[in-house]
Amino acid sequence: MTEETVLTFAEMALAPALQKVVIDVGYETPSPIQAQSIPLLLEGRDLLGQAQTGTGKTAAFALPLLSRLDPKLKVPQILVLTPTRELALQVAEAMQTYARHLPGFNVLPVYGGQNMIQQLRMLSRGVQVVVGTPGRVQDHLRRGTLKLDKIKAVVLDEADEMLRMGFVDDVEEILSHAPAGRQTALFSATMPKEVLRVARQHMRDPVEIRIKTKTSTVETISQHYWQVKGMHKLDALTRILEAEEIEAMIVFVRTKTATVELAEKLEARGFSSAPLNGDMTQVMREKAISRLKSGSLDIVVATDVAARGLDVPRISHVVNYDIPYDTEAYVHRIGRTGRAGKMGKAILFVAPRERRMLNAIEQATRQPIKAMTLPSRKDITDRRIGLFKEQIAEAMEAEDLEFFEELVDSYQSEYDVGHRRIAATLAYLVQKGRPLQPDESPSDSALEKDFRPEQTERTKRPSSDEALQRYRIEVGRSHGVEPRHIVGAISNEANLSSRDIGQIKIHDDYCMVDLPASMPTKMFQHLQEVWVCGQQLKLSVASGEKVERGQIARDSRPARKPFGKAADSKRFKPGAKKPVINRRVPKKPK
Ligand code: ADP
Ligand code: MG
Repeated sequence: MTEETVLTFAEMALAPALQKVVIDVGYETPSPIQAQSIPLLLEGRDLLGQAQTGTGKTAAFALPLLSRLDPKLKVPQILVLTPTRELALQVAEAMQTYARHLPGFNVLPVYGGQNMIQQLRMLSRGVQVVVGTPGRVQDHLRRGTLKLDKIKAVVLDEADEMLRMGFVDDVEEILSHAPAGRQTALFSATMPKEVLRVARQHMRDPVEIRIKTKTSTVETISQHYWQVKGMHKLDALTRILEAEEIEAMIVFVRTKTATVELAEKLEARGFSSAPLNGDMTQVMREKAISRLKSGSLDIVVATDVAARGLDVPRISHVVNYDIPYDTEAYVHRIGRTGRAGKMGKAILFVAPRERRMLNAIEQATRQPIKAMTLPSRKDITDRRIGLFKEQIAEAMEAEDLEFFEELVDSYQSEYDVGHRRIAATLAYLVQKGRPLQPDESPSDSALEKDFRPEQTERTKRPSSDEALQRYRIEVGRSHGVEPRHIVGAISNEANLSSRDIGQIKIHDDYCMVDLPASMPTKMFQHLQEVWVCGQQLKLSVASGEKVERGQIARDSRPARKPFGKAADSKRFKPGAKKPVINRRVPKKPK
């Protein structure tokens, strides 16, 4: 950027219809990848572009290629290949937007699991741009329903991801079907050898563009980690949700089951949330994403695959609830926030034995990840009070209160009490369903005192005479588990009385727990999948282990209470001015 002055959009040779749309969508200056790619693609050059996610690659190829499209010709002229259905849809949507001023323009996303008949109908009606996953595009080529003979340009979007997902043969075959004189553009966040090989083989003298890895993406994201200790990850997340200014959040977990479970638990705690995973139907996934975009949904709990490439500028926070398997996944995950020049925040939950991965991530991103302390009860109280005051101020300004002022006056004269006392009573009534001062939850003491559970605590086992069997569960001290977590989870999930749960022995990575020997298979299977402290129990029979009869080895506290009063069924709704998910909106009087 120092040696050359960057062209503005207006100075580029884009067709008038595309100049117009750039103004419509409000892009002021081209991003670095756009500044470099657009002029070259307009000249018809092949191009190999490397830039991180969120740097505006879609417009970098869409604007120049659409500029060169002939809207009167009703056959596919541009083919874009993407690794996933979500990306195909996203790129197709962007294309539709950028082509807004091209008369009679049609784009068709094609991907597996989508209605074939509808696609065929669209194809026969004439589309100029096809955006699809390699597999489905191949299907169409084999059936002869898609013809590439008039293709002027092929784009491989997120090429590294596409090859990583095993699409290399499909991609190469598709490229070999496209006319030799076509233009080819390849975009990728990284440039592994395999990508370069495909590029060399299928592109003509491509110009290589590399936007330095130290991109704005990482600079616009502040990164933090919380050392998982003494408290459930769920409780920690709840605190974060309540204490931070959050517009929208994506929470990453490792499994599809965990997306559903965590979304349900957050719902139960009053935060509107939905899962996003590969098991959901396409329609459901699209629905969740569009709700997230429009703001009717604020939290999505996703797996890596389902959220790849997701572009929702509202996302202000990414929480790595389960640590990713590798550093690349981490970079992809946090790239869902801090988009389009906005600031984003990434939070990583790190269990003690995951410290190594944390170091690896810091090295890979060359960015320090700051340790964070969770908001305390006092922080939450302060925040609730702050929001409460805002509500008062807003209502005072916006509502006609005369009727109520008279009511207060009449109360005062009738009962002879001061305004202060009346106001305090009314304030109490307003917050009663969800108190400004959260209850002390059992986890608080753990949080504040760096709690270490006793190995075993013995009391007399009460009256149950069920024969017990020793089982092993895959959660242990290193995950921060305490006896009450186990009792709480098992008694809730297996519908057992806590009296049916015998001795619990906590080890570093697992626990031994005595449960009824006559446990039904269904319950046994269910307990495999239950999560405690971020770990799946994966219950198994510990053969060879003897049960010590008549003993119960845990503290006698009841199963844990949900955090604060958040478990009531009230939903948070976005506030009128700033859409912040934890802003509480007073109920309209009926
Ligand atoms: P990538 O493909 O590199 O991950 P996208 O093409 O999805 O990035 O773009 C990321 C976001 O940036 C989108 O919301 C897009 O509308 C926005 N964007 C793209 N180009 C510009 C620009 N020149 N100015 C402002 N915003 C832009
Ligand atoms: Mg992209």
